[in-house]
Amino acid sequence: MATPGFDEPRIASGPFSSYVLDNAFDEMFDAERRDAETVAAMKAARRGELVNFVGVVEREGWPVESWTERGTRQECIDCFAGWNDEVHAIIDSLDVPYKWALLGRHPLDHFCAGSVCVIGDAAHPTLPFLAQGANMAIEDGMLLARCLDQFSGAEALRRYEAARMVRTTTIVVRSAENATRFHNAALANADGAADYVAREWQPERVRERYDWLFEYDTLTSPV
Ligand SMILES: Cc1cc2nc3c(=O)[nH]c(=O)nc-3n(C[C@H](O)[C@H](O)[C@H](O)COP(=O)(O)OP(=O)(O)OC[C@H]3O[C@@H](n4cnc5c(N)ncnc54)[C@H](O)[C@@H]3O)c2cc1C
Repeated sequence: MATPGFDEPRIASGPFSSYVLDNAFDEMFDAERRDAETVAAMKAARRGELVNFVGVVEREGWPVESWTERGTRQECIDCFAGWNDEVHAIIDSLDVPYKWALLGRHPLDHFCAGSVCVIGDAAHPTLPFLAQGANMAIEDGMLLARCLDQFSGAEALRRYEAARMVRTTTIVVRSAENATRFHNAALANADGAADYVAREWQPERVRERYDWLFEYDTLTSPV
């Protein structure tokens, strides 16, 4: 699996098609390039039959809350002006591009009211920079099931809320912190990017930022 780094000026030196064939269609690839205001990420899906392209563009004042608002290929081309040919080859082959805002929300201080509780995004919508939204929803389901198994009624919901509040709040807060870490002006040029990556992605710092995430066990976490 090839994962081009920040210091590579181009995603691949060869034609896009040979890059994809060489690197992606056998399993999965992630390809990313960042600059000060835009990020592009690609993943092959369904055994390489599809390529998922996500482009992040910094912008203020986006009021529409929707995952289904259609954009245009031209908007996408304009947003990624100056990027390499491989990125534009992907943009040119987009079917319908969709666009949505990344909206940060402050964590809630409760997930339950009476005999009703929420789980997943309804309880703790998060920016995607720890890639934990779906994971949290699954964890919620596991912990809620364990609480309902061991306690009844409002007590079960109260236990669920208590069991999940600190972890989900921490994920929401730390995802928001990663927004500026991943989308940082230092990444706009190769020299700044190399220093920044060397500093922020030292093994010790990465362990601090991620180990706690993956040490959580839904089967043994107290309820
Ligand atoms: C582009 C993108 C990339 C992501 N990447 C990751 C990742 O790498 N890792 C990760 O963990 N998470 C990721 N997430 C986040 C993840 O998709 C969400 O956190 C997760 O789907 C939340 O699950 P949920 O069940 O809480 O909500 P949803 O998946 O939103 O499910 C809610 C469901 O309720 C339905 N619904 C809404 N209103 C009604 C109604 N009135 N009546 C009936 N049904 C209704 C909706 O149609 C929907 O099917 C990503 C999200 C996006 C958009």
